[in-house]
Amino acid sequence: MSISQNLQKLKLSIPQDVELVAVSKTKPVSDIQEAYDSGHRVFGENKIQEMAEKYEQLPEDIKWHMIGHVQTNKVKYMASFVSLIHGVDSLKLLREVNKQALKHDRVIDCLLQIRIAEEETKFGMSEDDAVSLLNSDVFNELTNVRIKGFMGMATFTHDKGQVEKEFKSLKSFFDRCKNETGNHSSVRLEILSMGMSGDYDLAISNGSNMVRIGSSIFGERNYSNF
Ligand SMILES: *Cc1c(COP(=O)(O)O)cnc(C)c1O
Repeated sequence: MSISQNLQKLKLSIPQDVELVAVSKTKPVSDIQEAYDSGHRVFGENKIQEMAEKYEQLPEDIKWHMIGHVQTNKVKYMASFVSLIHGVDSLKLLREVNKQALKHDRVIDCLLQIRIAEEETKFGMSEDDAVSLLNSDVFNELTNVRIKGFMGMATFTHDKGQVEKEFKSLKSFFDRCKNETGNHSSVRLEILSMGMSGDYDLAISNGSNMVRIGSSIFGERNYSNF
């Protein structure tokens, strides 16, 4: 099946209020253009340099999401155009995003990446650290970032029970925080980004409203090109 057919099929299978981020990392601009031509506008990349290069070559109304781990010294390369940063996992990074956003006179939307997987390799912050960040005085002074929600990645396993447990725990943390941060001007918890090609249905049934899907749209990735 073609990219546009894959997208069509996927969009029919997910609820309308769930946002689909088409993860185009390692894929050529021609693939993204094909998805764009079929009407899709939201794309996710996990390397800042790669995203910036693609941004230069593709239509301006694309919404670019940074879904990968972000190094502080590279924020400047995406600050002018990035639409949503999923992987914010420290106050230090958030301060840099704020600084760069200020230079471009814009507010950058961010998600805090929360560690939900049992695996030790995944990035992200603990729930306690996220709460401290949101309550900190330093965060209060950051005028050019807005926390729009949370992102989480489940353990890479065939054990659906495990994956479901992890999604459920992030959803309940999300709901709890939503109740407690209602009045904060820089926090608007609306987005829960969970679910990839292998587990998006499970993520959606456990409260996700943003899924990040790559291989089911563009096919398997060939990393030897990068
Ligand atoms: C690559 C990637 C995805 C998409 O993975 P697929 O299995 O190809 O759908 C989603 N989220 C993140 C953070 C990724 O790096």
